[in-house]
Amino acid sequence: MVVGDFAIELDTVVIGAGPGGYVAAIRAAQMGQKVAIIEKEYIGGVCLNVGCIPSKALISAGHKYQESLDSTAFGVTSENVKIDFAKTQEWKNTQVVSKLTKGVEGLLKKNKVEILDGEAFFVDENTLRVMGEDNAQTYSFNNAIVATGSRPVEIPGFKFSDRVLDSTGALNLSEIPAKMAIVGGGYIGSELAGVYANLGTEITILEGLPSILNGFDKDMVKLVEKNFKARGVNIVTDAIAKEAVVSDNGVTVKYEAKGEEKSLDVDYVLVTVGRRPNTDELGLEQAGVEMLDRGLIKVDNQGRTNVPSIWAIGDVVPGAALAHKASYEAKIAAEAIAGKKVAVDYRALPAVAFTDPEIASVGLTESEAKDQDLDIKVTKFPLGGNGRALSLNATEGFVRLITTKDDDHVILGAQVAGISASDIIAELGLAIESGMNAEDVAMTIHGHPSLGETVMDAAEAALGFPIHM
Ligand SMILES: Cc1cc2nc3c(=O)[nH]c(=O)nc-3n(C[C@H](O)[C@H](O)[C@H](O)COP(=O)(O)OP(=O)(O)OC[C@H]3O[C@@H](n4cnc5c(N)ncnc54)[C@H](O)[C@@H]3O)c2cc1C
Repeated sequence: MVVGDFAIELDTVVIGAGPGGYVAAIRAAQMGQKVAIIEKEYIGGVCLNVGCIPSKALISAGHKYQESLDSTAFGVTSENVKIDFAKTQEWKNTQVVSKLTKGVEGLLKKNKVEILDGEAFFVDENTLRVMGEDNAQTYSFNNAIVATGSRPVEIPGFKFSDRVLDSTGALNLSEIPAKMAIVGGGYIGSELAGVYANLGTEITILEGLPSILNGFDKDMVKLVEKNFKARGVNIVTDAIAKEAVVSDNGVTVKYEAKGEEKSLDVDYVLVTVGRRPNTDELGLEQAGVEMLDRGLIKVDNQGRTNVPSIWAIGDVVPGAALAHKASYEAKIAAEAIAGKKVAVDYRALPAVAFTDPEIASVGLTESEAKDQDLDIKVTKFPLGGNGRALSLNATEGFVRLITTKDDDHVILGAQVAGISASDIIAELGLAIESGMNAEDVAMTIHGHPSLGETVMDAAEAALGFPIHM
């Protein structure tokens, strides 16, 4: 490297250190490239700092609180259960988020990835300018991977403030609200509704569509709705959020539902109606990068843009805005840069909502398979038939397999609802990724008693020889 008026030369440079960027940087380094990563705010990106990880920490806290309040089924009673939310937040920040982000920083250093603090933008197809706090530096590169992620969308009438929260604000509240409205019942809104409902907040979800958790199968969503109902969560569907009027100690949310104008007085309103890619201030047009609608970057099946030296991964490219998709694309792009013949294949991309109960899907759903005119068999195994689920007092849910109807019984898709669905779905992802059939799974010996056995049981049922059903 030569420091001075000239550009510093970089081999591969990654912009953004989220689950897309840091994984790309490490894999590129493992492939023998000299790598630098540029990050303007926080190592770990949205996911580790203000997304996946802190939300799961608060979800766990909500579950602990509920278990403390009510474990009478196990013969455990409790009195004077209290929650110190400042302590919850401190635990989340210091013991979960910080530990993980420091760990990622350590991994980058261990892999000899140079970390550059600052905001990057393209000058042209081989040059970047990085603005640090009090300095600016130009870099030239052979390959750049754009992994700048996304940010919450603001809607008219709901300007983000102390009372009108985005997901980051909702994750960092210093108090448990008495009342909260949530505009948008997607997975982020539903997960955060679960957090605060479990902590005792009176929640109203205003969803513009006919159902919350759009995209997940109806029978799974119904289970979540049932649990929300039990916690007193009010779900208003086909609702149009109009305006938030902030006062000194609260906010009035105006909305329209069933043709009527309504309003709701709450402590906070959380708006989770989608995310926008961070591509607008990157100088991509100066580099000649072709864009799609809504600020997304057009890439091929290796993550390469129309400009051969520029690649893009994660929330800035089409597809579900999910951390594991970003990390997967990161490995493909980094290996493609190293000359490997790799390409993305999203057949086994899971989608998980950490609601109560958890719901997860991988591969085809029944309706997607039918849309493709596939001849399928649908098999559902209830969690109630599983010994481990019974011993956990968590029998709500099922495993569903979508297999070919022929004698091959190839697994095309799967849905899991219930405790640990987020983990159980992984085996089914592996099965789909490997082209396995129901017999492969049914003949795999599963430890007993375990929730994983539900997958084996479902596979046996798909073959027509269920033992536990
Ligand atoms: C509340 C919440 C919960 C979520 N839960 C889950 C979940 O359970 N599972 C899941 O899979 N996904 C979840 N997500 C989505 C997940 O966080 C994103 O899909 C993921 O973070 C995208 O990764 P990324 O690497 O593309 O971008 P990001 O994680 O957004 O990282 C991008 C990074 O780039 C940096 N950056 C941006 N512009 C520049 C620039 N010009 N120069 C330098 N640096 C820049 C940013 O500071 C940021 O650190 C959740 C999101 C939210 C908000």
